[in-house]
Amino acid sequence: MTTSTTTPDHNADLDHDGRTGDGALQRLTGLANSYRERLEAECAKAEAEAERRERKQSVDAACRFIAQHLPATLAQILDTDAWVGYPALREGYAEAEPTAVAHLGSGLWLIFERTKPAGALTLLAPCTCGRYVPNWLGDDYGLAGTLDTLTLSCTGRL
Ligand SMILES: [Zn+2]
Repeated sequence: MTTSTTTPDHNADLDHDGRTGDGALQRLTGLANSYRERLEAECAKAEAEAERRERKQSVDAACRFIAQHLPATLAQILDTDAWVGYPALREGYAEAEPTAVAHLGSGLWLIFERTKPAGALTLLAPCTCGRYVPNWLGDDYGLAGTLDTLTLSCTGRL
């Protein structure tokens, strides 16, 4: 506890001789804490906003991709609401591009990754071994061929 010749004033900043007043540290701590809280709240808000934007961009990009490349098939059965967007993953060693995922039923999943300029669409099909077989989808015709082989096991393919 510092001794002071003056009456303690909790609102004082510095005494005229440069020593801190009794209330200065308390006030400084209060200011620092409230500044940190404000800054952290702003950062959290900015992160949440960036994440929301990335999720939406992923869904938009997935919809654009199927509208352009699979207009006769997937675009006929999937609308924007079918997709769930995920932001990029940048934590630790795990890194992933923003993605959008749609469940097609029957254990089938579509994964759209915003990798290349246009993105990449993969159909994940369940196999009897319990794993999922990835099938890259490029166009309507390719999808027809992929659907023909869905009942096959992944043996020899993974
Ligand atoms: Zn298998």
